[in-house]
Amino acid sequence: SQLLEGKVAVITGGAGLNGLGFATARMLAAQGARIAILDLEQANPAGAAAELGPQHIGLVANVTDKASCDAAAAEILKQLGRIDVLVNNAGITQPRKTLDITGADYDAVLDVSLRGTLYMSQAVIPAMQKQKNGSIVCISSVSAQRGGGILGGPHYSAAKAGVLGLAKAMAREYGADNIRVNCITPGLIATDINKGKIPEDRRAAILESIPLGCIGEPNDVAGCVVFLASELSKYCTGITLDVNGGMLIH
Ligand code: NAD
Repeated sequence: SQLLEGKVAVITGGAGLNGLGFATARMLAAQGARIAILDLEQANPAGAAAELGPQHIGLVANVTDKASCDAAAAEILKQLGRIDVLVNNAGITQPRKTLDITGADYDAVLDVSLRGTLYMSQAVIPAMQKQKNGSIVCISSVSAQRGGGILGGPHYSAAKAGVLGLAKAMAREYGADNIRVNCITPGLIATDINKGKIPEDRRAAILESIPLGCIGEPNDVAGCVVFLASELSKYCTGITLDVNGGMLIH
């Protein structure tokens, strides 16, 4: 039987066919969930949802905009009837040195990962409270834990570390409603966010620092989201699940 039969799962930033979000959407759908893919207009969320099949929907939503998040949640409830799983996946990064981070850079990076995680969580929690059931999975990064991943600047580390704190506090607040909130901290996963950005001369050194000896693939993260979304993890809340090939062991 399937792990997510009858469930509705929402994935932010899920429209990029090579991204973690879409791989996650596909794997959640394979476990029986109906999917709502949210993304910016230029990413074509409806097209991505259509790739998954006719029972799934794609909506334009900007996670940095509270009204946009609330409207998306209302539309999902109207079309699919419930919201069981939220995957806060939307995120952007920028390579920057500390002294080069402008106010606009800071706003751009923190707004998508951190403000976006807050706004989308706020948009779905009331429905989850009514159901007395929900799982929120937040995509942080190894960059939050080790102070820089490979590509993102310190403001990216800060945004992703902020996500860890926000998620843990929400886990504490909503446990009584049977809403679980957990994080995944991916290491280096091959997606468009880093495509062509790892210089060849650094590649060997990076691989040497990863005990499993390879860069991750989107499905490596997706499988862990399925675990956290499903009842397999029903006694897990406030946890951080590392998916980094051993790049950081702590
Ligand atoms: P990606 O660039 O393919 O996906 C990010 C998605 O977010 C895109 O579809 C983009 O359109 C969407 N997005 C951007 N701004 C948005 C907004 N304001 N509202 C809604 N959607 C928005 O990259 P990815 O690697 O699949 O990244 C997914 C998540 O995983 C991100 O949060 C990223 O920081 C995180 N992450 C990635 C890696 C990695 O190595 N790939 C490692 C650690 C963490």
